[in-house]
Amino acid sequence: MHQLTIAEIARGLRDKQFSSVEITSHLLERIQQLDGHYNSFISVTGEQALTDAAAADARLAAGDAPALCGVPIAHKDIFCTSGVRTSCGSKMLDNFVPPYDAAVVENFNRAGAVSLGKTNMDEFAMGSSNESSFYGPVKNPWDLERVPGGSSGGSAAAVAAQLVPGTTATDTGGSIRQPAALTGTTGLKPTYGRVSRWGMIAFASSLDQGGPIARTAEDAALMLSVMAGPDTRDSTCLERPQRDYSASLNDSIQGLKIGVPKEYFGEGLDSEIGARVQEALQAYEKLGAELVEVSLPHSKLAVPAYYVIAPAEASANLSRFDGVRYGYRCENPADLRDLYMRSRGEGFGEEVKRRILVGSYALSAGYYDAYYNKAQQVRRLIKQDFVDAFQKVDVIMGPTAPNPAFKLGEKNADPVAMYLEDIYTIATNLAGLPGMSLPCGFAHGLPVGLQITGNYLDEARMLNVAHQFQQASDWHTKTAPAAE
Ligand code: GLN
Repeated sequence: MHQLTIAEIARGLRDKQFSSVEITSHLLERIQQLDGHYNSFISVTGEQALTDAAAADARLAAGDAPALCGVPIAHKDIFCTSGVRTSCGSKMLDNFVPPYDAAVVENFNRAGAVSLGKTNMDEFAMGSSNESSFYGPVKNPWDLERVPGGSSGGSAAAVAAQLVPGTTATDTGGSIRQPAALTGTTGLKPTYGRVSRWGMIAFASSLDQGGPIARTAEDAALMLSVMAGPDTRDSTCLERPQRDYSASLNDSIQGLKIGVPKEYFGEGLDSEIGARVQEALQAYEKLGAELVEVSLPHSKLAVPAYYVIAPAEASANLSRFDGVRYGYRCENPADLRDLYMRSRGEGFGEEVKRRILVGSYALSAGYYDAYYNKAQQVRRLIKQDFVDAFQKVDVIMGPTAPNPAFKLGEKNADPVAMYLEDIYTIATNLAGLPGMSLPCGFAHGLPVGLQITGNYLDEARMLNVAHQFQQASDWHTKTAPAAE
């Protein structure tokens, strides 16, 4: 049953081939048996899941079941869940039990989905390997000595290991797409503002966006249809109504113009990955699409601009963790200053501290113009590159990550090497555009991701374009070897 996609599960439940309690118990058993190898979950909420599954079965029997009624999913541990610990991968929030659900969680509950638990992640979503989690690294199901990517490494690995058919995730600079690429799954980061950030713990508020990771574009469409929609509690959430992203999956892509940025195929790209992406582009040509070379001249500046803007916003967002309001508090503080310093010093991990220091520095008087303002100006130029390119093309394609999954520990000593993992994904966030990654083959025996960047609010077309590829290829059906 664990091989089934969300679309197949939803159909099977309606056709009474199996019940939600059956599939939920089956997946919970798998998690219990196998997740010791992957560490993809921080919390498993088995009892609640079975209660919710039974309620879903009752609704299915009564015939008033909403879209995802009875379908098991899991949430990245960055989304607040009422009554369920929400750690954000940090010691700081190891004891934090939110009194409310994030908007995304509410939306899935309303759609009848059954949450199996909370998935592992880099601490406060900072990282590209899932090694900065307080709960230990996640292992890539394709090779347990390798990382699954980050920061949504748990969400991606859980789907790749077939512990759950779909998960929620977040992407600030690549954290949905890069782990999707490294685990052979399909992930989508929506247009900034398409999905409410309410109740999603903030890393860099102008870049953060929630989205789905699943095995197919069809499933990502089902999940996005539930996740996305207006929310007055998030002032940056767009006032567009919810829509059905499944409706246009089968549209023809004859005449589709695919922009291929020349900057995305240069130095630093693993040659086998480059070859797989070129093959995918040729497959698109066979489907009737036209390849058009485009240029994103400022793309080289995306990583440096991001590593000023994201830490700057993080330093402000993380100031709320002070040992007073919620989260970790040090033992026996001598005075208020000691309470602040030791609670933060002991509660945050190394990468988070590095970002807070960099961000505070970039925002401080005297450096603000030189770093923060300059980075915002560069961000504007990066956005303009995309606006210009989308005058000529419908979507942009290239590699998602420069290399396949790397070994645990391989990039830990060198933060810059880790930061360069997101060299192809970060510009999308700076521009606020939607992006996807889908499996397009293997390099060195490991999954390769094809990145699709769409125009603003063009998620439906991206999903259509991805679905058409998956109708003509079978990379997304390849499964990771079973863990011993
Ligand atoms: N890897 C990037 C970082 O460390 C992006 C993380 C993310 O998208 N949350 O900031």
